[in-house]
Amino acid sequence: MSIFHGNQQVPAFERQAWMQDAACKGMDPNLFIPDRGSAGCNADVMAAKAVCRECPVRQECLEYGLMEKQGVWGGLSERERRILRRRRRLGEAA
Ligand code: SF4
Repeated sequence: MSIFHGNQQVPAFERQAWMQDAACKGMDPNLFIPDRGSAGCNADVMAAKAVCRECPVRQECLEYGLMEKQGVWGGLSERERRILRRRRRLGEAA
């Protein structure tokens, strides 16, 4: 992310203060957000999640990235975020 997290791929208006503390700041964004057309391999997702586990702004990242359809945000994969969104819509999770 380094998208998210401090690199030029994130337009300035999308940058958030918490991104300065991201564990992935400066890392290869392709680890977290694979190129379009590529689902990313499971090993990449697991590696990204390992970084997220140590991240001090994981919750902020998750909330920010909840509507993102691609990549790992807040330690959750695309599928996991989709499930969380559905649960929140149904009032099953806070
Ligand atoms: S939770 Fe993961 S993707 Fe989000 S800022 Fe932290 S390391 Fe980056």
